[in-house]
Amino acid sequence: MKLRKVTAASAAVLALALSATACGGDSKDDSSGSGSSGGGKIKIGIKYDQPGLGLKEPDGSFSGFDVDVATYVAKQLGYEPNQIEFVETKSADRENALARGDVKLIAATYSINDERKKKVDFAGPYLLAHQDLLVKKDSKISEATDLNGEKLCSVTGSTSAQNVKDDFAPKAQLKQNSGYSECIAALQSGAVDAVTTDDSILAGFAAQDKYKGQFKLAGLKLSNENYGIGVKKGDTATLNKVNAALEKMVSDGSWQKAVDDNFGPAGYKNEPAPKVGVIVK
Ligand code: GLU
Repeated sequence: MKLRKVTAASAAVLALALSATACGGDSKDDSSGSGSSGGGKIKIGIKYDQPGLGLKEPDGSFSGFDVDVATYVAKQLGYEPNQIEFVETKSADRENALARGDVKLIAATYSINDERKKKVDFAGPYLLAHQDLLVKKDSKISEATDLNGEKLCSVTGSTSAQNVKDDFAPKAQLKQNSGYSECIAALQSGAVDAVTTDDSILAGFAAQDKYKGQFKLAGLKLSNENYGIGVKKGDTATLNKVNAALEKMVSDGSWQKAVDDNFGPAGYKNEPAPKVGVIVK
């Protein structure tokens, strides 16, 4: 009898408290991450093998510019760092990972282009990079035309591999891996003559202790790579929030801090902050 004495007023207070927790804002990290949406966690796709951009460290933590952008954006969406679950999204998997709902957002050196826009929506851009070549220090390769007949490594599902086939070096012997770290290892061993992708990525590898002094970037701006944050096609509410977060990240100085923290050590000279909604063709 005593138990049934819940008044309408106290029930309402209880309901309010429950819904406030479910909204995610400052709820505790009590989810195993198994929830697909809502339950206090957000899943974000990043790269795991790109130093300076998206890297899973040996201790299980994550570092890089994309990680910092993702963490800032998540905070604006109401998620603390301990509510983020980073998931590896390799270049060829990104569209499917969003379509399947494996992740809510992707911040993984993900260039905005018309082909991809058929399948996903992009917030941003938040960085402008350019395709370049990485070669051994003593290599004679200095132009894209030097690549014809040479062994060139890139990644399946990347704009970098597509551009080689379509434009720069259709006669190169293109080897495609699932990640850039495999290409860099192949360059070091001599299995390939050059690696091609965004200068931002190549600079990060070249600056790693284990490769210091071994490689050089050609310094060619072969393309414009406008990095966007991938969102499920049609999820306009999330898209708008992410765009607002990116604008704030630039205006409050956090974008520049992330640039300095992550690109400074590699000496990567990045382009100024892009304007949200403006793609450099
Ligand atoms: N930014 C390019 C792309 O989206 C190359 C880097 C990558 O594969 O992530 O394809």
